[in-house]
Amino acid sequence: MTDHPRDLTAPAEDEALILESIRKWLDRDVRPHVLRLEHADEYPAEMVEQMKALGLFGATIPAEYGGLGLSATTYARIVETIAEVWMSLTGIFNSHLIMAACVARHGTPEQKAFYLPRFASGELRGGLALTEPDAGTDLQAIRTRARREGDHYLINGTKTWISNGIHGQCFALLVKTDPEAEPRHRGMSMFIARKAEGFRVGRKLEKLGYKGIDSAELIFEDYRIPASDLLGGEEGRGLQAALGGLELGRINIAARGCGLASAALMDSVRYAQIRRTFGKPICEHQAIQLKLGEMATRLQAARLLTYDAARAYDRGERCDMEAGMAKYFASEAAVENALEAMRIHGGYGYSKEYHVERYFRDAPLMCIGEGTNEIQRIIIARQLIERHPA
Ligand SMILES: Cc1cc2nc3c(=O)[nH]c(=O)nc-3n(C[C@H](O)[C@H](O)[C@H](O)COP(=O)(O)OP(=O)(O)OC[C@H]3O[C@@H](n4cnc5c(N)ncnc54)[C@H](O)[C@@H]3O)c2cc1C
Repeated sequence: MTDHPRDLTAPAEDEALILESIRKWLDRDVRPHVLRLEHADEYPAEMVEQMKALGLFGATIPAEYGGLGLSATTYARIVETIAEVWMSLTGIFNSHLIMAACVARHGTPEQKAFYLPRFASGELRGGLALTEPDAGTDLQAIRTRARREGDHYLINGTKTWISNGIHGQCFALLVKTDPEAEPRHRGMSMFIARKAEGFRVGRKLEKLGYKGIDSAELIFEDYRIPASDLLGGEEGRGLQAALGGLELGRINIAARGCGLASAALMDSVRYAQIRRTFGKPICEHQAIQLKLGEMATRLQAARLLTYDAARAYDRGERCDMEAGMAKYFASEAAVENALEAMRIHGGYGYSKEYHVERYFRDAPLMCIGEGTNEIQRIIIARQLIERHPA
């Protein structure tokens, strides 16, 4: 864990203990293996077992269902801390916890009682299956279809880019139950879909960064799912469930952005004191000082926005604008800090022996996932108008 310039959001004592054990785990079991796993694009199976033991798969699941019941604020701090060391690891539990949040918010009592304890222990892991080859931002254009047949539904279609698609067992699956419905969202529903006959993994997708974690196509061919796995037991509420989960999703993407921006800054602060040119450490050259000053300010601003959004979420307030601002700003901060870190490291920044080239490959994903940054700015503008009518 890098030293933060200033601790913005001191957590409660018990939450501080959780953070401390995560930092110890990162130093002992993660940091020494990151370069190898990253460059082999290898799934960190052993670390996943350790994450189960740490309770990460239940971080935001209420304690009554066996989770840690952490606030979004503490959760964001955990995500930031882990992303500083290896951002990919956060993807293994982030979308899993958004799936869990969908069940916790919209599930029937039976669905909560069955799924949440299994999600919390990590026995059932997975994520969100929303995106399709022809529909990402415009989710209402999805084509995966579920038809009711007695006490089951029959699902056909293809999802793509699904995080944890290969190693996960269970997904919050967005489908059309009525493709003719107007408005379109009334014909959309969500299922809690476990892998079974008719539900298979297609290709593993090769990526620029975000290595180690599996991103895959999921293919549904006459997949029979019991009607009892329709989230909330009611058709037509799938988009609402998917979008509701995205607020927490955006806060954690913002926290990942903070983690990357922080790692890029702190690597640069260290390197700039060691690397010498023209008889002095490069941190004594004004051109490098300007970069460090900008990077640190950007990080601090990103953190303030991120924890402001997390606190609003914890108070139960509507926070799509705050989460959108945090996600937009922190992800762009990660991209800019990663590029500046590469400049400060000179040729070594381009080397696979250093971490900087990974930050540079990982950061742009934060601008795309959980709603692109173009969409975030549109959400912010719409909220501004709604909150301030003329
Ligand atoms: C590594 C990775 C992991 C992912 N994990 C998951 C996952 O676990 N589950 C899941 O469901 N999805 C996942 N995704 C998919 C991701 O959510 C989508 O890529 C994202 O929502 C954008 O959709 P798209 O790629 O179809 O782009 P498009 O929707 O085709 O957008 C293309 C461009 O057009 C812009 N654009 C679109 N509409 C508008 C508009 N109205 N106004 C202005 N600009 C617009 C976009 O901002 C973007 O710049 C993942 C993607 C990646 C790369």
